[in-house]
Amino acid sequence: MKRVLMIFVKIIVVLIAIIGGIIAIMFGLNEFVFNRESIKSIFEKVEDEQASVTKYIAYGTHLNIEGEIPEKTEEIRDINLVLIPLNKSEVEINVKYEETENGYKFHTSDLLNKGINLEEFSKSKYYIFAKVEYGKNKKKYYSLGNKTDYKNIEYYTITRENTNNKVVVKFDVYDLDDRDIEYMQIEARKSKLPKDVYDIVIDPGHGGSDTGAEYGGYREADLTLEYSQKVKEELEKLGLKVLITRTGNENEETFGTHSVYDEDGRVNLVGKSKAKYVISIHLNSITEENSESGVEVYTAPNIDFKIAKTFSKNIVEYAKTNYSTLTATYGKMDGVYARTFKDWEIEDSINDANSGGYEPYNITENTPYLYMIRETGGIATGAYVDGRNKEYGKNNYYNSNIGVEAYLLELGYLNNDENLKSLIENKDGYVKGIVETVKQEMLEN
Ligand SMILES: [Zn+2]
Repeated sequence: MKRVLMIFVKIIVVLIAIIGGIIAIMFGLNEFVFNRESIKSIFEKVEDEQASVTKYIAYGTHLNIEGEIPEKTEEIRDINLVLIPLNKSEVEINVKYEETENGYKFHTSDLLNKGINLEEFSKSKYYIFAKVEYGKNKKKYYSLGNKTDYKNIEYYTITRENTNNKVVVKFDVYDLDDRDIEYMQIEARKSKLPKDVYDIVIDPGHGGSDTGAEYGGYREADLTLEYSQKVKEELEKLGLKVLITRTGNENEETFGTHSVYDEDGRVNLVGKSKAKYVISIHLNSITEENSESGVEVYTAPNIDFKIAKTFSKNIVEYAKTNYSTLTATYGKMDGVYARTFKDWEIEDSINDANSGGYEPYNITENTPYLYMIRETGGIATGAYVDGRNKEYGKNNYYNSNIGVEAYLLELGYLNNDENLKSLIENKDGYVKGIVETVKQEMLEN
């Protein structure tokens, strides 16, 4: 009798487990179906006319999108982009917009390193629509077609606790009953960092036969290598995957003489790394000894200078040195400079092209002058070394919509005696200033 009861109890337990399982599956399935359906219901709502993307670029950790919406309603209240993820609530992204002949054009940010933060995407698929609000409480959704010939963006988030996400920005077609609708999407999932992908590149300025500045028996190329190797070591202790563009003596003979645009030159190394940031380390010099001193951080002109400002502040504080005394129109704030082409430099470049027999580059007064900042940013920063000048190699990534955010640090003037003393005696201070900035601005954000 007891045994029969035991079997009966067992059967009940198993039944409860099975029914529970079925209910759980149904709820899970329901949610899945509900989400698929809600996406479908949005595609059913989208306007017949498509909005279009005219530019989409990742620079550093951020994505920026520009586009056009064929919206003719007289009084619109607002335009936003909406990201609709499966299984999560929708995210609204503010855009700047203005009326045009054919509707509106919009862009996510005026600053290259602002816009949509790619670091924030975790495991999901996000559909992107333009949402136009008008009238009292009405809204329209537009799907985004691709008007560019850009490639998909494949982005890897910065390594934190040994993990990364792969974030892909691309276009696809939604097959609605009687319509094929092109749409933009961001897909994110956990992923191991591929072998050739890095978080940060450290670039010790000059090298090989190019010694850089020389003064008092010291050579810029030697010192920048020393600082860079220490910075790399410290960043690796934080769990970051760091690429260094040269390691010293094994390429001492060749590095300086071969072009920075060779296959394994520093520009192509940075492009290939898919890193988020490149930090190029230099020491300054000026014609008249001891006439200037201090720290200069160089960046692209159209970015948020917050990281640059932290670099200059931290280096000044930890190395007990000073902000640069250099006054220049392209100085942005204490120790922060965004050097762009000047009129006569643009003219020079056109003359060079004419005498070299190639089509002049498209250089504007907004184009970064320093190649490590310009060429590593791709389309975002107006990179142009595309091989048309036969005296140079080619930047394979000049036309890339994935830009590496560049900071070129002039730690001090080698031919300033006070700076030189500090640069030699206080190396760890400079290294700490750089590493702390990476920690504060790139890792903890
Ligand atoms: Zn230099």
